[in-house]
Amino acid sequence: DPQLNQHYTFENFVEGDCNRLARSAGYAVAAKPGGTSFNPLMIYGHVGLGKTHLAQAIGNEIKRTLPDKLVLYVSCEKFTQQFVDALKHNNINDFVNFYQAIDVLIMDDVHNFAGKEKTQDFFFHIFNHLHQSGKQLIITSDKAPKDLAGLEERLLSRFKWGLSADLQMPDLETRMAILKNKTYQDGIELPDDVIEYVAHNIDNNVRELEGAMVSLLAQSTLMRKEIDLNLAKSMLKNFVKHSSKEISIEYIQSLVCEYFEVPVEMVKSQTRKREIVQARQISMYLAKAHTKSSLKSIGNFFGGRDHSTVIYACQTVEDLIDTDKKFKGYVADIQKKLKMA
Ligand code: ADP
Ligand code: MG
Repeated sequence: DPQLNQHYTFENFVEGDCNRLARSAGYAVAAKPGGTSFNPLMIYGHVGLGKTHLAQAIGNEIKRTLPDKLVLYVSCEKFTQQFVDALKHNNINDFVNFYQAIDVLIMDDVHNFAGKEKTQDFFFHIFNHLHQSGKQLIITSDKAPKDLAGLEERLLSRFKWGLSADLQMPDLETRMAILKNKTYQDGIELPDDVIEYVAHNIDNNVRELEGAMVSLLAQSTLMRKEIDLNLAKSMLKNFVKHSSKEISIEYIQSLVCEYFEVPVEMVKSQTRKREIVQARQISMYLAKAHTKSSLKSIGNFFGGRDHSTVIYACQTVEDLIDTDKKFKGYVADIQKKLKMA
């Protein structure tokens, strides 16, 4: 099938909380096209989050396991173009017959049907015919059916018949896994800190994540430099919108609290519980080292304490770094995360 891209497989589609429902529904549909209640299967989400990849993975999986099934992938634009051509050349019947013979129809980016009433009408009839014949429909869109504007109500109501599953932006670990998977496919190995740096800084679009990595590889080749964290940092300046993020006390506090899994409010409170005191003192120490804030304002931030408390905290942390290996490791970990910002 020329319309299906062989690279878009389930194997290459890294699983995470961001896509678990859509991915497993897709898997179920691939095992039993037309035979589940997920018909149509509607996959929606913002641009660059993997809709086309997942929809094609379903098609490829069906081709692999059920080679007799007729699978067609078509974008909404292409379908519209075909419809217009068929009208122009007077062969609407061929067009209809072609589509009605398909076992699995993957229609990508249906939000592009907005305002195209005639094409929508036409698709509505094809949809009904296929659905009534127990054929599988897979639809992608940049919005949930209820939020799709410019589409006819009767078509939208069909979209709601089956299952709608969304794709979200992957979390940090999943983004790292995607980058690792991608570099592995390309036979390249990147240092872990580079992978983490790229994944940390590109957090709104998987396509951009891959783009950043491709640029990084290209730069390293052109400049004949090894890919390390420094190269990644200088390259990503052009990529990352908020690259000059200033380190704030709030940010330090949130990192420390996340690291020790303690609630932010507790650090600002008067509690003397051991793990809270530790988080508070490390936060103060890092705030002194990495921000331009005065001792007074640091003390103030952490629950209205005075500057001598901050000095004492910094002294305590320095002493512990010298004497306690485990503690030294904690501070180093957090500092590393801070430098990723
Ligand atoms: P959309 O159709 O939603 O705009 P795409 O399916 O084109 O997004 O995905 C953009 C890029 O991101 C593709 O190269 C795709 O392979 C990749 N991608 C997205 N999600 C994942 C994932 N979970 N695992 C691996 N690659 C992914
Ligand atoms: Mg797409």
